[in-house]
Amino acid sequence: QDFVKKAPKIELHAHLNGCVRRQTLFEIAQRKQINVDFSIFDLRNIKGAFSIFQLIHQVLRDLSDIRRVSREVLEDFKDQNVAYLELRTTPKSCELGTYTKEQYLATVIDEIQKFQQLHGDKMQARLLVSIDRGRPLDDARSTLNHILKLKNNNLIAGIDFSGNPSKSTFKEYEQLLEQARKEGFKITIHVAELEGDEYLQESFDIVNFKPDRLGHFNFYNQELYNKVRQLDIPIEMCPTSNFYTVNMKSLSEHHFKEFFYQGHTINLNTDDTCVFDTDITQEHFKMIQAFNLSEDEFKQLLLRSSNMIFDQSYRPLLQQRINEYFSSSQK
Ligand code: 5GP
Repeated sequence: QDFVKKAPKIELHAHLNGCVRRQTLFEIAQRKQINVDFSIFDLRNIKGAFSIFQLIHQVLRDLSDIRRVSREVLEDFKDQNVAYLELRTTPKSCELGTYTKEQYLATVIDEIQKFQQLHGDKMQARLLVSIDRGRPLDDARSTLNHILKLKNNNLIAGIDFSGNPSKSTFKEYEQLLEQARKEGFKITIHVAELEGDEYLQESFDIVNFKPDRLGHFNFYNQELYNKVRQLDIPIEMCPTSNFYTVNMKSLSEHHFKEFFYQGHTINLNTDDTCVFDTDITQEHFKMIQAFNLSEDEFKQLLLRSSNMIFDQSYRPLLQQRINEYFSSSQK
């Protein structure tokens, strides 16, 4: 496990508020005397996850909380020896009026900027701006308009489409995402998280849109699988999160096997460290064990991850770090 912890890893699918430290959340709730039911942390499935997000959003009421959580989450990934991180979050205003959406986004960007100055040699961090399909289309539109003004900010590496899949359809947001793509944003989309005919149909719509990356991709049939293979769209996999959503008996059932051994570009991520009580070392370690991956396969996995990062300017250095780690005595 120490070897996995020390390896320069790549995290591309982590939601800021889903990665808040539990301790921080408890502390802030207590200090503000917010009465919350923390027993929902036992519900480790997608439904439970969405109740936890509500709770987290309810507790983080001030801009100073957003600042603190951003800083801590960045530190936590650095401490797990992540060499390159793409952190995603949905810009939002506080329902109590304590901060605006613009202030929220500016705060997260500011923390990433500060982090880069202090620790950029150890971990490069970028931001993905999330569009939450559980919020109205108008909200997504205002987010896009806002980030268009920040287009020259090189910390913003792309756009993520996430949120509760049962709340709306991809089609409702497709035009907006197409516009974002035309403006030059790279796009990653949560897809096929849930089982069912309506979700399968939607997954075809999403894959036909040809996003730059796909998130999760838990449920598919042969035709959809062939399509993703043929279009060669990289997949961000989140083992523990997928384990609970799919209701697997063991991680060896994970769809990792249907992609990794075919040479498909995939990587492993945490999704929400707080919700799933995990970290990026665990995610790799568990999969290495479940699939009995060799040291060379672990290295191949990291190298493949480096091919799917949105800021490709950092790829050569990242690959150098990975190669050096596996060939050196740092092990
Ligand atoms: P935030 O965007 O507030 O920083 O992070 C929490 C949000 O990320 C959630 O409200 C939800 O919109 C999104 N999210 C986190 N984990 C998942 C997931 O597993 N599936 C989906 N579809 N959305 C998620």
